[in-house]
Amino acid sequence: MTYRNQLLVDGEWLDGGGTPFAVLDPSTERPIAEVQTATDDDLRRALEAAARGGKTWAAVAPWDRSLLLREIAARMRDRAGDLGAIVTAEQGKTLAEGIGEVRVGADYFDWYADEARRIYGRVVPGRTADRRMTITHEPVGPVAAFTPNNFPWALPARKVAAALAAGCSMVLKPAEDTPLSALAMAELCQDAGLPAGVLNVVTGDPAHISSVLVGSPVIRKISLTGSVAVGKLLLALGAQGVKRASMELGGHSPVLVLADADPVAAARAAVASKFRNCGQVCVSPSRFLVSAAVYDEFVAEMVRQTEKLVVGPGTEAGSETGPLVSARRRAAVEELVEDARGKGAKVLTGGERTPGRPSGYYYQPTVLTDLTPDMRVLTEEPFGPLAPVVRFDDLDEAIEIANGVEVGLAGYVFGTDVLEAERVAARLDVGMVSVNSYLLALPEAPFGGIKHSGYGHEGGSEGILDYLSVRYVNAPC
Ligand code: NAD
Repeated sequence: MTYRNQLLVDGEWLDGGGTPFAVLDPSTERPIAEVQTATDDDLRRALEAAARGGKTWAAVAPWDRSLLLREIAARMRDRAGDLGAIVTAEQGKTLAEGIGEVRVGADYFDWYADEARRIYGRVVPGRTADRRMTITHEPVGPVAAFTPNNFPWALPARKVAAALAAGCSMVLKPAEDTPLSALAMAELCQDAGLPAGVLNVVTGDPAHISSVLVGSPVIRKISLTGSVAVGKLLLALGAQGVKRASMELGGHSPVLVLADADPVAAARAAVASKFRNCGQVCVSPSRFLVSAAVYDEFVAEMVRQTEKLVVGPGTEAGSETGPLVSARRRAAVEELVEDARGKGAKVLTGGERTPGRPSGYYYQPTVLTDLTPDMRVLTEEPFGPLAPVVRFDDLDEAIEIANGVEVGLAGYVFGTDVLEAERVAARLDVGMVSVNSYLLALPEAPFGGIKHSGYGHEGGSEGILDYLSVRYVNAPC
């Protein structure tokens, strides 16, 4: 396969002035491409381009912006097979998931194509009959966007689509492990007719790039999807310029399996969701709190289903879950398991690198029980194939455990009495809850967290507001 591997600045593909770096296939650990490192000069040009591109794009009528977004969505769907292969090659997920992710990206472009046409304002009568107030929503201005390595197509897509719909330009910096999908997406946007300078993509040293971009007066908004730690860094940088910010940060999602839940169905749903993308999903269920009434059956079924999973390269027919994205991520997962094991947790299945896979960042889907509160896996986002299961007798205590972390992204409740499940859901300190299912990330729904999981939303009718400023004019009429 050939990959787009240069910087996109002002509609041109450029070699960066820095030392290029390798992108590895996580299933082989072998390099698949060399990507550019942007220098200060490259970043300055990208910022100038975004300043010009922002003016050009804000002047395009929303109806025309919408048409272009639809065209981009259609091209994504047409090429989902090839583009999904790029996602799989750099990220490791199964090809079916890679292709699915490109389609999800297309869905976001379609959603925001509609939203672009519905940027309404309002008119408020003045204090006197000869005046009135007009309230409009204007593009916030050039955006610096930073995306993580777990969904290298869908997450840049939902930022780019929202920004374009609102009339904003962007400098996008994708994750170092997985920059190729975003570069391919930018090329697709350009081919579909996006004017030069509206979307610029830079790669390289994240700390340096973010300090230059966020520090520039050109940038009016920061949008990050990533870890809480990086969120705090970018917010601190942005504070100097009082930048608008959207922070889609990490989570540690509790799942409450209530006493009247069907333990077998709940365990099957849990396994299907938990090990998707090798557990590298911000809303991945990551703390299973299970009522003593159904605990034994739930755990037995969870282990049975987990042991059936086929772990292998994303491109191999039959693989159900791939490797972790990087050696760094696998080391972090190994540390969490060793910490828990060392403190007395039981590893019911997994707990080691995948046998028979000497290369690739594989780790076996793992179920942990007999956990105590001092074990790191209960408070640190595992972001890997770990399912820690805690038995509870008292629902109030379980809810306290669920809410006892700094993050608050997603939560899940399983129970037969749906009204009771909804009452429990209402007590979870999270931005999103799903009852009797794991479905949350949808273009038509506002995705976002509370507490240290951040603020702002992607999707829903809220999503576009993150890229708009309110202007109010009080004038004679
Ligand atoms: P990360 O925080 O390491 O990286 C995210 C982005 O920040 C990347 O572009 C990266 O290059 C950049 N970055 C890294 N170090 C930086 C630094 N020192 N200064 C400035 N920028 C820096 O995250 P990751 O490992 O790629 O992704 C996993 C994290 O993302 C998890 O915590 C996960 O929960 C979170 N996530 C959140 C959501 C959401 O919507 N809430 C979605 C997906 C992933």
